Amino acid sequence: MEEKLREELIKLFESKLSKPMQMYLETCSRCGICTPACHAYASMPQAKYTPAYRAEVVRRIFKKYFKLQGKIAPALGAAKVLDENTLDELYEAAYSCTGCRRCMVYCPFGIDTQQIMSIAKLLLIGANAEPELLTMLADVSVSKGEGIEDMKESFMQGLKRLEDQVLEKWKMEAGEMEAGETPIPIDVEGADLLYVALAGAHSIIPAAAVFNAAGEKWTLSFFEAVNFGAFVGDPTKTKLILDRIVNEANRLKVKEVCICECGTAFRVMKQMSGSQPFEVSSITDVHAKYIREGKIKLDKSKLNLPVTYHDPCQIARNGGVIDAPRYVLQQLGADYRELSADPKYNWCCGGGGGLVAMGDETHDFRMKSAKVKADQVQQTEAKILATACENCHAQLSDISKHYNMDVEVKYLSSMVADALIQ
Ligand code: SF4
Ligand code: SF4
Repeated sequence: MEEKLREELIKLFESKLSKPMQMYLETCSRCGICTPACHAYASMPQAKYTPAYRAEVVRRIFKKYFKLQGKIAPALGAAKVLDENTLDELYEAAYSCTGCRRCMVYCPFGIDTQQIMSIAKLLLIGANAEPELLTMLADVSVSKGEGIEDMKESFMQGLKRLEDQVLEKWKMEAGEMEAGETPIPIDVEGADLLYVALAGAHSIIPAAAVFNAAGEKWTLSFFEAVNFGAFVGDPTKTKLILDRIVNEANRLKVKEVCICECGTAFRVMKQMSGSQPFEVSSITDVHAKYIREGKIKLDKSKLNLPVTYHDPCQIARNGGVIDAPRYVLQQLGADYRELSADPKYNWCCGGGGGLVAMGDETHDFRMKSAKVKADQVQQTEAKILATACENCHAQLSDISKHYNMDVEVKYLSSMVADALIQ
C-alpha cells in the first residue's frame, strides 16, 4: 500500500475516534462473554466469527497508529500495520457482522462491535475495497434524490396505478372515501404525518389503506426510506440520504415522520436526525396506536394458524420498538408464540449490515450463520413468521427455503391491512 493512501486511511480512522469509540477500543478484557452471543459464531463456532476477534483487527490498527506502545514497540502491543492483508481482514470482519448488537447487550462493558466495525467499513471505503454493489446502490440513491424534481411526474403517475389496490383494501373493507380524499396523498403541506416507504407497491398499498382507514392526515414521501449509505458505512452518503427526508418533513411542516418496515431506515432517522420539530415513529408503533385509540378495527378471525414474530434488530433491540408488534398480533387474534424469552436477546436474522443487499455473494454465509435463527423459529412450531423489516423478510424467506421450514414469512403491516374492518 502506498504511504499516501495509508496516511489518508489513518486520518479516516482518527475521524471516528469519539470518546465512546476510544472506550470500545481500549476496554475489552477478552472475557469471551460475547462469544456465544453472536449468531454467526453460535451457528459456525470458529474464532473468526466471535465479536472480540472481529474487533481485534481494528484494535491492533488503533494500537499501531494511535498508542505510544504500538508506535515504538509494535510487536509488544500486538499492533498491526495497515496494508493490503489488513484490508482483507477488515473486509472479512466487517462483512461477517450484521451490526445486530446482540453481543453488546451481553458485554459487561457495553462494547459496541457494530461501531468498531463502522471503522473497518470506513477504511475499506477509503481504500476503494468496500463491496462495489453497496456503493453503487448508495450512489444511485443519492443521485435519485438529486434528480427528484425530474422524477416527480413519473413517480406520481406510478402511484395513480396503485390507487385501485389501496381502495380495494380500504374502501371496501374499512369505509367510504370522502369527497376531496385521495387514496395516496403526496406533497401535502400541513399533513400531520409523512410516511416514508420503500420502493414497491408492497410498502405503499397496505400502509395507505391503514392510514386512510384511521382517518390520518398523511402524505407520502417522494423519497425511499432505505439508506444504502448506512449499509456501506459511508457517513457522507448516509447523511445526504437522511437529510433529504428531514428537509421534506420540515418543508411540509409535518408533526410525525413514520418509517415503513425498514430497520436501518428507522434507526438512522430515529437516532441520527438530531433535534427536529417532528416525532419519528415506526409503522408498527403507529398501527398499535390506531388500534388502541379505536381508529381502526381488525377482524380477529382471519389468523387461524400459529404465529411467531421476528424482532428486526434495528427496530427492537436498537430502536426500542418491542411492545407494539406484540400488541398488534394480540389484536389480530393470533395464537402467538415468542421466539425468545426476552425480545432484547432475540437472534439476528443474519441478513443485516448490507449482507442481504449483497445478494449471492453472501448467500452461503447468510444461510450457514442463520442456523440458530432457523432452529429458533422451528421450535415455536409457528406456521406464520411475521416481521416488520424488508431486509429481515428477504433473509427469513431465504432461510425458510434453505432449511425447508414449513412457515410463511409475512409483513406485519400487511397482516393489519388484510384484517381491516369497518
Ligand atoms: S453486532 Fe451482531 S453480528 Fe456483529 S459481532 Fe455482534 S453479535 Fe455478531
Ligand atoms: S464481552 Fe465485552 S469485554 Fe468480554 S470479550 Fe466481548 S467485547 Fe470484550
